[in-house]
Amino acid sequence: MDHQTPTHIAILPSPGMGHLIPLVEFAKRLIHQHNFIVTLILPADGPISNAQKTFLDALPNGISHVLLPPVNFDDLPDDVRIETRISLTVTRSLPSLRDVLKCLLGSTRLAALVVDIFGTDAFDVAKEFDVSPYMFCPTTATALSFFLFLPRLHEMEPSEFRDLVEPFHIPGSVPIRDTAQDRMNDAYKWVLHHIRRYGMAEGILVNSFKDLEFGPLKALQEKEPGKQPVYPVGPLIQRDSRKDDHNGLECWKWLDNQPSESVLFISFGSGGTLSHNQLIELAFGLETSEQRFLWVVRSPNDVVSDATYCSVQSQDDPLAYLPKGFLDRIKGRGFLVPSWVPQVKILNHCSTGGFLTHCGWNSILESVVEGIPLIAWPLYAEQKMNAVMLSEDLKVALKPNANENGLIGRVEIANVVKSLMEGKEVKRLRSRMKDLKDAAAKVSSEDGSSTKALAEVARKWQSKI
Ligand code: UDP
Ligand code: UDP
Repeated sequence: MDHQTPTHIAILPSPGMGHLIPLVEFAKRLIHQHNFIVTLILPADGPISNAQKTFLDALPNGISHVLLPPVNFDDLPDDVRIETRISLTVTRSLPSLRDVLKCLLGSTRLAALVVDIFGTDAFDVAKEFDVSPYMFCPTTATALSFFLFLPRLHEMEPSEFRDLVEPFHIPGSVPIRDTAQDRMNDAYKWVLHHIRRYGMAEGILVNSFKDLEFGPLKALQEKEPGKQPVYPVGPLIQRDSRKDDHNGLECWKWLDNQPSESVLFISFGSGGTLSHNQLIELAFGLETSEQRFLWVVRSPNDVVSDATYCSVQSQDDPLAYLPKGFLDRIKGRGFLVPSWVPQVKILNHCSTGGFLTHCGWNSILESVVEGIPLIAWPLYAEQKMNAVMLSEDLKVALKPNANENGLIGRVEIANVVKSLMEGKEVKRLRSRMKDLKDAAAKVSSEDGSSTKALAEVARKWQSKI
């Protein structure tokens, strides 16, 4: 332990489990390795979900949390984009954040306020109270490099980025084309608003490590006057703390009976969904691949009632949207779970040999830590950049191609699934992933680079008190 008196920091995660989970992992490292205490201050865009409640109830001693009152969104249109909604949740929570900080600072000193990439409006409040503002980037260093480059690109390039003939090059990174697709949307304006405020942070923590993103991290860490330090502290992933939990899981019992590394796990993150047509193509693709699979099935994001294809009995049961007779035909070889499974546990099971993922950054880090090769199936936001990085740069993923209608067809799916699970590429993909797994373990070891980066920022905060 570094100090007798614990150093206290506050963390403000913007709404979404994808932000909360890594920030809590970050907090856990600080309390366990550096004798910190942490207060989570949680802005809310609605009532707390069961998932959040379970998660917050399991927080260890040393991390407390304050739920801010939910903000009002009655004035927003129904189709408001997620980036706008998240940003406004934080912005509209600033008066209650101010009250909480005032109360906390009556009895303690705070070394820092850490926010994520959508929380930069809270920097003003931190400054009012003379608390150091820091930012945590829960996504890639590649996306962070892109964000930092965007204000320049915004000035240089008047047209929509999707109309550019050539992809643009970001310092230290792979070429990017599929991002920031609609500059007229409020979501773009919000993202740009936050990016322009990143400079206010005294430091930026990023959930990544050099072996995953060597070029972008090197560029980000190059010292320039006026540039804040960037600390690569990843991979911070949810630990499987309750080992006995899986005993009641049906899918766990099923996995126990499958051969080693034979099962493809399929999940689209905490909120990803497919169209009904795409769901049907995926089902047929998995069926004809003849591989074993465990699929977290969600109801489609549109409703097509084509009676020849499906048996839609109940809108609430995602399995009801699958092709007729599918469940019988895949019996024994495929296992379906509606909505949600404890993903980290599944990836950790020795029968799991591949992961078809929507390329959310937490999911990617979890597969890296477990050494599971991927099929990259991005849905939205920076997932498309992540998919390019995984398939073209790191070469640990296969990426299926969409047809002229934007759908990934069943034949393509079956081919890619077979290639990942039994094709001639399996060995190469597994061996590349194994290298990354070893590298992740190394950077997280006692004298690893991520452990050292965390210690450096912890020391800085301890010296402020
Ligand atoms: N989750 C978790 N622990 C739990 C239950 C859920 O970490 O015990 C996470 C998990 O990542 C899941 C996500 O919560 O995918 C769902 O989050 P959301 O806030 O959308 O929950 P919902 O509104 O669906 O209950
Ligand atoms: N997750 C889970 N079970 C599910 C779906 C998701 O435990 O059925 C967890 C997953 O392990 C990860 C997080 O939810 O920690 C999803 O984060 P990610 O960044 O991958 O995607 P997002 O949900 O933010 O799109």
